[in-house]
Amino acid sequence: MKKLDMKKLLLIGALAMMGHASIAQVHRCGTDEHFESLANQYPEAKAAKQKFDADYLNFRANYNPNDYKTAQQLGKKANPKFIIPVVVHVFHNNGSENITEAQINSEINFLNKSFRNLNSDTVNRRKGWFKPVANGPDSFWYDYKSLAADVEVEFRLAKKDPQGNCTNGIVRIATPLTSKGNDDLKKTSVWDTKRYFNMWVVRSINRGNSIGIAGYAQFPFGFGGGASTDGIMVIHNEFGNIGTSQPGQTPTVSTTTHEVGHWLGLYHPFQISTDSCGLDGDGVMDTPPTYFNPSSTEPLRNRCNNKSFNTCSSEKPDLPDMQEAYMDYFIGNCASNMFTLEQKARMHKVLTDIRKTLWSEENLRFTGVIDGPATCPPLAAFNTQTQVTCAKQKISFTDFSYGGTISTYEWTFEGGDPATFTGKTPPQITYNNPGKFDVTLKVTGPNGTSTTVLNDYITIQPELSQTPAAGAYYADWWYQNNWQEQGWTFTYDVPKNQFSRFPISYENNASMRLTRDPFNINSSIGNLFSLVSPSYDLSNFDTRYFEFYYAFAQGTLPTSIGGGNTTEELKVYTSIDCGKTWQTRTTIGSTAISTIGTGTAAVLANTIDFMPADKSKWKQVLISGASVPKAANVKFKIEFKYQGGNNFYLDNVRLGTTTGTNQVALAESINLKAQPNPFSQSSLITYELSTKEVVSISLFDITGKFLGNVFSGAQTAGTQAIEINRNQFNLSSGIYFIELNIGGKKLSHKVVVE
Ligand SMILES: [Zn+2]
Repeated sequence: MKKLDMKKLLLIGALAMMGHASIAQVHRCGTDEHFESLANQYPEAKAAKQKFDADYLNFRANYNPNDYKTAQQLGKKANPKFIIPVVVHVFHNNGSENITEAQINSEINFLNKSFRNLNSDTVNRRKGWFKPVANGPDSFWYDYKSLAADVEVEFRLAKKDPQGNCTNGIVRIATPLTSKGNDDLKKTSVWDTKRYFNMWVVRSINRGNSIGIAGYAQFPFGFGGGASTDGIMVIHNEFGNIGTSQPGQTPTVSTTTHEVGHWLGLYHPFQISTDSCGLDGDGVMDTPPTYFNPSSTEPLRNRCNNKSFNTCSSEKPDLPDMQEAYMDYFIGNCASNMFTLEQKARMHKVLTDIRKTLWSEENLRFTGVIDGPATCPPLAAFNTQTQVTCAKQKISFTDFSYGGTISTYEWTFEGGDPATFTGKTPPQITYNNPGKFDVTLKVTGPNGTSTTVLNDYITIQPELSQTPAAGAYYADWWYQNNWQEQGWTFTYDVPKNQFSRFPISYENNASMRLTRDPFNINSSIGNLFSLVSPSYDLSNFDTRYFEFYYAFAQGTLPTSIGGGNTTEELKVYTSIDCGKTWQTRTTIGSTAISTIGTGTAAVLANTIDFMPADKSKWKQVLISGASVPKAANVKFKIEFKYQGGNNFYLDNVRLGTTTGTNQVALAESINLKAQPNPFSQSSLITYELSTKEVVSISLFDITGKFLGNVFSGAQTAGTQAIEINRNQFNLSSGIYFIELNIGGKKLSHKVVVE
């Protein structure tokens, strides 16, 4: 068989699952691609993996399968050799992904049945004669029943947390990032990975291209930099076998078992590479090699189907694919119900060589899984989707306290109305004054009481609705360095990759740049970067627009996560309730988002540092008219979804109330002039009309205050001239704006009185 690297196999697997319903419901496991990206960051991980594989080759020279058969295989139950303390972190956004304690327990029970060879579906394991070549001479006996192992590993939810507090081994974190499932998310809630096996449960896992992943593990090789991400991550509906995850549903219940196998150093059986039967496959000899054949319509056939296997002395013959193996992708009646004896041997080697701190007696006492507390008080937990808002807005709070029965809930809302509430679900709370406020929840149950205080959890912004000046650009803040003082903010999903001032721009001196992130792409994929404006009072402006310029080149994703382009997205939103809700005003996606071309020209290799050298490399985004609400409290948000492309630049972010770029073009076509300008006594406003129009000319001061009508009436085609006189409007020295309304279209022009 020719070399097929892991990535390709995974992709072929994904293609095969789309093409053939019979193997459509495979596990999508992201372990290999996760390791590839981890090894990019921490080369020692790759070296450690190679070293372990080499050590294992030596180890298996003395491997005897009989050493790994247990009394349990004779129908007796043996005590586990290894007990592993577990913590389950549930990342949720108050949705169904906040799975119950019972569902978590069902997964721990299922894992223990899987690893102790106690599952009821073990009866489906096959044995028999197999003739690999239809007309060939040889038939081979195979017996997967007798190869199945009691791995002698038991998993127990921790009873003490790292600080020695009582725990049920479950941590719940409310976060909108539950749909990311990446390494950065893990780091927001992780217990010492040398003492606890960390399992993270999320709503969905997005890595690279958008094909959904059910779970992924971190291999045991190479700690150091990767220690804080060590563990497994699984989507909620493949974790446990009750609640949101049930046998028979599309996801299968053994996903978590599969990932734990990886965490203990097992590879996929289809991990075949340079030769037909070498150990650079899955590293163990009692799983027949398998191969995802994208054109196969018979997933139950032996998919290696290559005679060369039959000449292989060490792994002959090419037996039927071991669909029984937890580590393969098969589903169906006989799928996913066993680890083999040699897989057990390999996992034991990982446990004794690498993961030995977990199961030491000292650690089992530290984590409370032996002699730990019997019961713990419940834990008070809550959140809101609206942490920052304006006075008088209503805020909803959601309780997600956990850890046993709760009989009373006592809430305290500093600065809120009402200020206290007793019960699980409080009414909406109104905050009347600006400031930062604590929220407190105390829960009480039969096992005790706990109180959670979130300090300065709620921020109520002052009513700083600013009134823009009529006329030219108001918020061209880019070059001023004080945009944050003006109330503009950046927000990030993950704060490691931020905008920074950069001395290349559409105009003037600088723009803001979000630097591409080729070295940590899996953690950056899908991150949102937002620029949010302060509130503006636009209620008195008939013409309103918001614009900015950006420059961006799409990128070539590293092959480790799928290769090719993905979909970046640039969106503009407005809010009229202080950012509590946002309305989408424009979305730019696909290759249209690129400012350097379309098709292949839209893409620049990530190894090249994209710099928009001139104005042709920039694009304008403009929203105007009804898309900019005529309201007293308008906020704007520019949101960029990073998907692995090149650098992104932002410049000339502007809010205008009369003159926008579209209108500037109109102004040029009518040749609007004021002469002289500046003027001391009077100036002549001239413009050209191509047809008869209804025209009005208004005068405003620099704050946008209306001073009066200069002219109003119908005019014929041709050059028109209207005089503006300082005494008529009692103008002092300063800047003013005249606004022309021609057939409903407005434009303005700055005039200066000396
Ligand atoms: Zn896997």
